[in-house]
Amino acid sequence: MSNIYLPICAFLISFLITIVYFNKKRIKNLETKIYGYLLIINILESLVACTVLSLAIMYGTPSIILLLNRIDFILIITWCSFLFKYIHYLIYNVDNRKANIFIIVFNVIGYFLSITTGMNLVNENGVMNCTGMAPTVVFIVAGIYVILMILYLAISILKNKNNLHNKKYYPIYSLIFLSVCMLIIRQIMPELTLLSFIIMYVNLIMYFTIENPDVKMIEQLNIAKDTAEKANRAKSDFLSSMSHEIRTPLNAIVGFSECIDNADSLEEAKDNAKDVITASNTLLEIVNGILDISKIEAGKLELVENDYDIKKLLNDVIKLIRVRIGDKPLDFKVNIAEDLPQVLYGDHTNVKKIMINLLTNAVKYTDQGCISLDVKCVKTNQICRLIVSVKDTGRGIKKEDIAKLFTKFQRVDEDRNTTIEGTGLGLAITKQLVQMMNGNIVVNSVYGEGSEFTVAIDQRLSLAKLEPEKEENVNTNLDLTGKKILIVDDNKLNIKVAEKILIKYNPTIDSCESGLECLEKVKLNNYDLILLDDMMPKMKGSEVLVKLKDNPNFNTPVIVLTANAINGMEEQYLSKGFNGYLAKPIEKDKLFYILNKYLGNNKNNISNIEDKTAAVTTNNNFNRKDINYLKEKGININSSLELLGDVSTYNEILKEYVNVINEKITNLTNFKNNNDMENYAILVHSLKSESRYLGFDKLADICLQHELKSKENDTIYVQNNFDILLTELNNILEIVKQYLN
Ligand code: ADP
Repeated sequence: MSNIYLPICAFLISFLITIVYFNKKRIKNLETKIYGYLLIINILESLVACTVLSLAIMYGTPSIILLLNRIDFILIITWCSFLFKYIHYLIYNVDNRKANIFIIVFNVIGYFLSITTGMNLVNENGVMNCTGMAPTVVFIVAGIYVILMILYLAISILKNKNNLHNKKYYPIYSLIFLSVCMLIIRQIMPELTLLSFIIMYVNLIMYFTIENPDVKMIEQLNIAKDTAEKANRAKSDFLSSMSHEIRTPLNAIVGFSECIDNADSLEEAKDNAKDVITASNTLLEIVNGILDISKIEAGKLELVENDYDIKKLLNDVIKLIRVRIGDKPLDFKVNIAEDLPQVLYGDHTNVKKIMINLLTNAVKYTDQGCISLDVKCVKTNQICRLIVSVKDTGRGIKKEDIAKLFTKFQRVDEDRNTTIEGTGLGLAITKQLVQMMNGNIVVNSVYGEGSEFTVAIDQRLSLAKLEPEKEENVNTNLDLTGKKILIVDDNKLNIKVAEKILIKYNPTIDSCESGLECLEKVKLNNYDLILLDDMMPKMKGSEVLVKLKDNPNFNTPVIVLTANAINGMEEQYLSKGFNGYLAKPIEKDKLFYILNKYLGNNKNNISNIEDKTAAVTTNNNFNRKDINYLKEKGININSSLELLGDVSTYNEILKEYVNVINEKITNLTNFKNNNDMENYAILVHSLKSESRYLGFDKLADICLQHELKSKENDTIYVQNNFDILLTELNNILEIVKQYLN
């Protein structure tokens, strides 16, 4: 019986699968591409095998059979190598360059040997058999590929036992099984040409298990569906947490507003109004947080970089945190490295936001004790790596919660946080901002003892010399009598708020609710300043501005009012021709700055400023030597100057401190002797704050301990440690007297 039937069978079936496969709509990726090659090679190989065997039946062993056999060998090696590549990709999911090089080199060797080595053809009554070195080489090459596949498979299964049942590995199992069968059968019936059939069979199994285009398409659709569902779920979670967070302050606003409406007296109404303001600020904070996080996540937040005064920035942050601390029994220590450059280049708004977020948390989650801010820097080439560390003696964070801290809307230790307002957005935003600045954030915390958040961010060093900010030096007694201001906003409430803030400067205020009205009013009146809302129906503020500027005689400054407080918006509005930018809700200070800039008596102010600056400079020079004396004596004068601004202010406060200190010591001693811990705590608290202001850190630390203990009514501690406090106080007084003399 001829041995042509199996190759014919293989040819017909592989032809059929190939037609079906290529006619179906398929996913296009590396796996399907390789499978396509496997199918085509299978058709070619079985066709060559059929031709060889047909020729053998018809003509015995013509020499063309030798050539066809060599082509058959090349096809078999190629098929094995493609299957190997397929399996490798299946297991590792990467198109590995090293594996590709190995395949090419190994194939070239295989091709070369199978073409150049000898082979014999045995034809017994049309049953063709091929022996010799060449077919052996093919079997060895194919065998090595099979062994490698088994090895990869074994490693993958050892790594993860579940892979044993992975449907993707079925073709390899069948290949292994069939290869073993073939080896046995070849021993018993060498004339049986099984190879084409085995190749076809593996391809067929692949088709029905992992390469069926329909199944693949469904798998891909499922993945797409899962991704869409995940995104949808995230969006719903986001919306539900957002509405929950927003509803809390909103309820408060509605509730307190009703109370104002029903109030019997002005006093009562004012009290409720204060609560409305607090809730409104919280709401604003939440909305800003949500805006920030969604902008960051959408990749729309860009860092707006420019030169800035880092020391001034730190000063602003410190002032703000002191206000946040308020009456809380918290000591705030600041330590700023001396080598910190004056000017840096970076996104100062977001640097500030990072610091404020960390410090605000420290204040929120610490009931008593101490908060410290440490700022250091490492300079390399043009980069200044800022290392900001915020430490507190607060409630601390459980180890298992640390990983959750940076997830948005995630608040931890909720049982203890119920009375503390928060959105769970602060740290998520902080982390994203830090990453955008090429930095990182590290948390160290001991539950019940305190936490330390350390942030490292890259800023660029700058040689720029910054002008002193005009905002700081403005005349606070601004009188705008006789000046005419037009407010344009489609929202009546916004107009009312702007009027309320403006009224104390006595300008003449006019208002209207649309761009068209604004154009009419400008035709009939001469205004000194226009506050123009941008987002208005019918005609936007930007369009109104264009129309106003059509008149060549129009030279009134126009300030855009907008709720679009995204980073970079200010620059955009200024480039459109607006003279200034005010974000809504209007901040009093910013409005004041603008009013002063365009309507204030700037000349006088500026000469005053220059006079003041000159005086401060002279004073500073005068005291330089003495400051060094204080530094030598361990006084933290740098942090004091950060807080107090200049040496003359420092000296003034210092003199005041010395003038009253004896009286304070007497009172403290009396309170201690009478065990009057209540008054002792109050006095030692004020001594602590003054000492900290003046840079007497050690004394302030001692006072803090006394404050805490006296609040606990621990008279024994106070009695036993009073001498330590007095000794340090006398030590400081010695230094101070020396300095003032
Ligand atoms: P929140 O608005 O709730 O303060 P954050 O993202 O800033 O949101 O912080 C997430 C959570 O991390 C907080 O709810 C709080 O439980 C915890 N946390 C943050 N900072 C501190 C800290 N300094 N001490 C203790 N817990 C903190």
